[in-house]
Formats: sequence, C-alpha cells, structure tokens
Amino acid sequence: MHNIPVAKVLETAEHVYLNGEWVPVEQARLSVFDHGFLYGDGVYESMRAYGKQVFMSDQHFDRLERSARCLGLKLPVRGEQLMDLIGEGLSLNRLNDAYIRLVVTRGVGPMGPDPAPCQNPQLILIVRDIPPLHGQKRDGIRAALSSVRRCAVDSATAQIKSLNYLVTVLGKLDANRMGVDDVILLDSRGFVAEAPVANVFIVRNGIVLTPAPSSGILEGITRRVAFDLLSEAGLQVVERDLTPYDLSVAEEIFLTGTHAEIVPVCEYGGYPVGNGMLGPVTSILLDLFGAATGKGKRNGA
Ligand code: PMP
Repeated sequence: MHNIPVAKVLETAEHVYLNGEWVPVEQARLSVFDHGFLYGDGVYESMRAYGKQVFMSDQHFDRLERSARCLGLKLPVRGEQLMDLIGEGLSLNRLNDAYIRLVVTRGVGPMGPDPAPCQNPQLILIVRDIPPLHGQKRDGIRAALSSVRRCAVDSATAQIKSLNYLVTVLGKLDANRMGVDDVILLDSRGFVAEAPVANVFIVRNGIVLTPAPSSGILEGITRRVAFDLLSEAGLQVVERDLTPYDLSVAEEIFLTGTHAEIVPVCEYGGYPVGNGMLGPVTSILLDLFGAATGKGKRNGA
C-alpha cells in the first residue's frame, strides 16, 4: 500500500497509477520508447467495480495472466497486490462504481520489436467513472454487419487481450461510417464473431445462441456471466456457429461486455429485431445482471 497524505488526497483531481506511483492525470507521462506504444507490445484488462467490489476479479486476473503468458510478459504486480492497488485507486478517486483499465506494457527498450532488452514492464491503472458504452438504454441500439473481419483463430494474436486493437478501431470506424451505434464482425470463415468490444448473443426459437471461441472471439467474462445467469434461469443457452442469416432472423440480439454491460440490439441492418422492442430474454438478463452487480438495487430498481 502507498502512504498518501489525507490532505493531499482531498485536494487531488483524478489520479492514475504509473511507474510505481499514483500521479495526477495531467502528470502521467509514458516514454515514447515504451514498446507498448511503439509496437502494441503489452496486454490489458478492463474491469468494473460495483459498490467498491471488483466484479469477477478472479476471472479478470486469470485472463490477464493468460494474455501475459502468450506474450512472455512478466506481470510486475499480481493477485492481492493488484487488488490493493485497485482499492487505492477507488479511494483516491473517490469512486464506488468505476471502470478499471489495467495495462501492462513491455516497457522501455531500444528501437526494434525484440522484447528481450525491455527489462521493466510498466503497469498502468486507470480507475474512472465511465458509464456503459451505449448508456443504460433498455430500448436498445442500432447495429449492422461490418465488412471488417475478426482475426482468424490461427493468427498469432487471436483471442489475446493485447494492446493491438486495430480490428476494433476499424469496426468502430465502420459503425460511424454507417451511422449505427455498433457493428457485428464475422470471423474469417464468414460466421458471426462478435462486436468490436463486446460478445454477441441471439435468441432463435426461444434458444439463446452465441458463437464459440473457435470464431476467434475474445472469451468475454460478461459473456460467461450472461451464459450462467440465463442457464440458471432455466433457459437453454448454446454455443454454436451463427450465420449472418441467423442475425437477420433473430428474435432478439444482445451484446455483453465489461464496458458495454448488457446491450439490447433493437435494430439490425436497418430492420427491427423481433418487434423492435426489448425482448423477454434480454429483459430477464438485464434484471439478473443488475441483481448480480448490485446495480439494480443502487438505482432503486
Ligand atoms: N470482445 C472484445 C474484442 C473485447 O475487447 C471485449 C472487452 N473486453 C469483449 C469481447 C467483452 O469481454 P468482457 O466481457 O470480458 O469485457
């Protein structure tokens, strides 16, 4: 734990953790020779705290470990220590509910992509009040199919939560260009993969369907939560390949993600999904997710 004088905390603006200490955002500086910046060499996790508790913290820490392992990156801080740091960030920035971005870069090194000379990975922690990606819309968003494809499962970076997020950026550009709130990306085979920063589910004939990791999706933690909550509620939830046709004829479509939370999609490709209103399965999931995170309670629902 870091000893930050109370008087200093009270007068502070937002702080971020960088280079072993909490610094005001304006003073946070990263070297231009950090390989995270130069080569996208690093990993990250995004989490949310609800009522000061990090939601699904073990799962997020595990995924961080797995991402780091794929890159041969040594995490400077882990487990309990990470949890303490997040706790400090929540207190310092006076937040109960927060979006938490944990970034580990390869650190400073000579020019050239070889990570070997980079001896000091950098841990960056942003703990900030960020609302859900698409707001709290129960009436849903407008989505369309993107021409951008997720990386094939046999590509080096598929499924790793790394600092390489160009596919996501291209997907967002596509959404902006088409004038929709979000897009859905296909995998390299032409099956449905996911949205730029969220997993996708559909409901067909009352069955909840979602693509499997073999589509090169990020194995979302909110996806797993949604899967379990709906299964426990007695719904049939199945992982399988989905075609663009499945999206077009779905009774319901929804997205899941840490930043996005649970997002109903009420228009897809210019047509209403189902009757264009919040569907019954998505509605149940929104309620269950609200209860699981404590959000519903705090919002007085
Ligand atoms: N897919 C991608 C590509 C993402 O970046 C994210 C956000 N982490 C997700 C899906 C959703 O995953 P999670 O529920 O773990 O946030």
